Parts: sequence; structure tokens; C-alpha cells
Amino acid sequence: MSTIFSKIIAREIPADIVYEDELVLAFRDIAPQAPVHILIIPKKEIPTANDVKAADEAVLGRLFTVAARIARDEGIAQNGYRLIVNCNEDGGQEVFHLHMHILGGRSLGPMLAKK
Ligand code: AMP
Repeated sequence: MSTIFSKIIAREIPADIVYEDELVLAFRDIAPQAPVHILIIPKKEIPTANDVKAADEAVLGRLFTVAARIARDEGIAQNGYRLIVNCNEDGGQEVFHLHMHILGGRSLGPMLAKK
């Protein structure tokens, strides 16, 4: 099942794209939770972290190298940032096209909200 992120890859809906290469696309989150909140997505449709295969290791590694590049470009590398991949209901996943959040620009507090 394609998601809104496939439409962003296909340029069928707009997004504030900050990086693109042959494997991944990165764009600003539409509802930012921090001064810097960018999503990095594989161009390949991988619904969730449960669906990753060994053959996806190159693209999954690329998510991290692009995250490091974006952190540097956005000026948050030195102070730090958080990378998040949500999976399914308990993880709070809303869009079923695997994506890495990069969040920074302020102190992000504890890793998890209290119950
Ligand atoms: P997740 O809960 O991990 O699935 O995160 C999905 C993220 O996608 C949320 O932070 C949304 O704000 C973001 N989002 C949804 N639609 C768009 C869009 N059209 N452009 C940019 N970000 C979006």
C-alpha cells in the first residue's frame, strides 16, 4: 500500500526537500516537534522496521550517513540530536513507509514520555 510519502517521492504533493540521492529522500516534517525535524525515507517502499531485509542494508545504512550530513548542515551535530524510527501501533507509527526522524535544535529531554 503506497502512502503519502510515495506521493512526495513522485512530486505529486509538495514537501520541503533538503536532500535527495538515488536511495533516499529527506524533507522537513509538516508538524515539527523541535526546531529541526526532518524525515529521511528510503525511496523503496518498506512499510515498517519489521519488513527490512538483508538486501535493504545499503539503503538503511544510507539513512544514517544522510542523517549525519543533515545534522552537520543544520548546525545541530555538535550539540546533538535524536534519531527515531517508530514501528507499528505501540511505536506510534502513523505513516507506513519506513522513515527516520532527525530531531534537534533544543534539548530533547528524556528519551520516552512517562506513562
Ligand atoms: P510516524 O509517527 O513515525 O509515522 O511519523 C510520521 C511523521 O510524518 C509525522 O511526524 C508527521 O508530522 C509527518 N508527516 C505526515 N505527513 C507529512 C507530509 N505531507 N509532509 C511532511 N511530513 C509529514
